[in-house]
Amino acid sequence: MTYIGRFAPSPTGPLHRGSLVAAMASYLDARAHHGHWLVRIEDIDEPRCPPGTAEQILAMLAAFGMQPDGEVVWQSRRKHLYEEAFTQLAPWVYPCGCTRREIADSRIGIAADGAAVYPGTCRHGLAAGKTARAFRVRVPASGDADGTIIFEDRWMGAVSQQLATEVGDFVLKRADGFWAYQLAVVVDDADQGITHIVRGADLLDSTPRQIYLQRLLRKTTPSYMHVPVVTNDAGEKLSKQTGALALNVNEPLAELAAAARFLGLETGTPQSVAQFWQEAVAAWGARHA
Ligand code: GLU
Repeated sequence: MTYIGRFAPSPTGPLHRGSLVAAMASYLDARAHHGHWLVRIEDIDEPRCPPGTAEQILAMLAAFGMQPDGEVVWQSRRKHLYEEAFTQLAPWVYPCGCTRREIADSRIGIAADGAAVYPGTCRHGLAAGKTARAFRVRVPASGDADGTIIFEDRWMGAVSQQLATEVGDFVLKRADGFWAYQLAVVVDDADQGITHIVRGADLLDSTPRQIYLQRLLRKTTPSYMHVPVVTNDAGEKLSKQTGALALNVNEPLAELAAAARFLGLETGTPQSVAQFWQEAVAAWGARHA
């Protein structure tokens, strides 16, 4: 079987205990399937990516024994690909002049990711006096079968989302001129020939949007697995904002063992990083291959 997996960190901060779990799951799944594991730096949201952070992440992955099988790609250097896909999507795209506040005030609903469902205000043209801020892609009407995206997640089971009522027409090009994550990730996964996506469950709600874009762009839909995310005591995803615990790169074995335990894997007491991976790949393969 051809297997190409990836880890796609946004370099907004160094790798932490939560992102180590996501990296580990994608790496183990690739190794257990004798596949390739790629790393893509998702620095498309440039203002949020401090210089040097991506290099720091790559060095940490190496310190934990995770070496990519191909060249690392950077989203900030691939904007021409997003432009191309955007052009291809033109029949479904329209300019939107709504501010965040106007969308929030419409109170049509809150999407699973906490953002307001877009009420479709600019669908039939910009109102007089409005200028284009962002560009959105039209999703099928709620009664249309194409607008309900159903997929089988390898960890979570069957997932279904009705785009019209749960998300609304979503942004492909942001008001600040940057490409949206949803577009960039679909273009890159297709361009890199990714067959298996293993990532944190915080992205589960985004997957139906990505599958929808894959269909419009006539790309293959990869297999998906969304693993649980590490949360703090308040149940929030570990991140810089919620006070994530930094990784101790001087104790790679302890950090790796903790991440593996979080994923439900037993690894005994390995004496080296190499031995850890050998045991963890076997344990993962026994459960998920
Ligand atoms: N860059 C995203 C993040 O760090 C992950 C994207 C993905 O795996 O699809 O949250």
